[in-house]
Amino acid sequence: MPLGAHARNAHYSLLSVWSENVIRVCQSCGQKNRIPPSRLHQVGYCGACKAELSANNAPIDVDQQTFDQIVKEAQVPVLVDFWADWCAPCRMAAPEVKKLAE
Ligand SMILES: [Zn+2]
Repeated sequence: MPLGAHARNAHYSLLSVWSENVIRVCQSCGQKNRIPPSRLHQVGYCGACKAELSANNAPIDVDQQTFDQIVKEAQVPVLVDFWADWCAPCRMAAPEVKKLAE
């Protein structure tokens, strides 16, 4: 495989990881809107119908790339909860983290 093709594929997979993570679905038309990390705390508008998209108020599961981007670009303090499925105290803390986000 030529190197150029390989690099393009890698680029696409990064983009799709990114777009899965910070997507808000419009409540009125169902359009998926990609929200830049620097705007997550603000009210936005749906690209399709211009309905209001509320500011992010729930924990977001992130991969490393999205984490880096949010921490670098967010204009509000970011609370990071490191947790694991197998960790009982982590799972007990999760609802509290969610409450804080709201
Ligand atoms: Zn909409």
